[in-house]
Amino acid sequence: MSDPAIFLHQVERRYRQGDNELQILRGADLAIWPGQSVALIAPSGAGKSTLLHLAGLLEKPDAGEVYLGNEPTAHMEDDARTALRRLDIGFVYQFHHLLPEFTAAENVMLPQMIRGLSKKQAMERSVQLLQYLGLGPRAQHRPGELSGGEQQRVAIARAVANSPRVLLADEPTGNLDPRTADHVFGALTELVRLSGLAALIATHNLDLARRMDRRVTLREGRIIELE
Ligand code: ADP
Repeated sequence: MSDPAIFLHQVERRYRQGDNELQILRGADLAIWPGQSVALIAPSGAGKSTLLHLAGLLEKPDAGEVYLGNEPTAHMEDDARTALRRLDIGFVYQFHHLLPEFTAAENVMLPQMIRGLSKKQAMERSVQLLQYLGLGPRAQHRPGELSGGEQQRVAIARAVANSPRVLLADEPTGNLDPRTADHVFGALTELVRLSGLAALIATHNLDLARRMDRRVTLREGRIIELE
């Protein structure tokens, strides 16, 4: 088997709260392989966002290691982590956070141009991705002219525009009606399979979670495989 795209090894994370220390992650282990989608299902407060932040190199573990590819990241300097995050990680949030003044295509172009692609190259890839997600005719619309499901698909296109190794999503369909959620989710998992991304998706939607390759939860600060 190939190496995992991302591997959280024995990660620990604690927060100080007044005189107390909250131990949120207590040696969590999670490996995700290219092309694999993993649902993270756990009650509020269990540490899902904390885990996603560690996986996304937005926070450092207090102990343990986060390997991206085979590269250990925990002791990298902040600017190296930021560079790696831009290259290797895509994020999708519950709310799309698209820039309202820009069209769908421009929203998807921006991260590519920040990375150094020409406008022409970025435009080509944006249109291709939007078409793939069924949004070809919407490419020149601004977010305000799109439905919730369309906005979220643009956010997905933006997240994968730079072909990251890992896609992290926090309740990506939490804000959508069930049918739209189903549609957006189908597009997301198909993209993961075809592009060889590794995806970690926090969700409360068990129907959607069932359609992913694996389901995990957090119990007492550790990852437990479900089923
Ligand atoms: P979830 O996403 O599963 O709801 P979180 O990872 O957001 O859980 O939070 C887990 C616990 O850690 C919660 O009790 C939360 O209050 C606490 N927590 C999260 N971030 C911080 C922080 N920066 N400082 C202090 N406590 C935090």
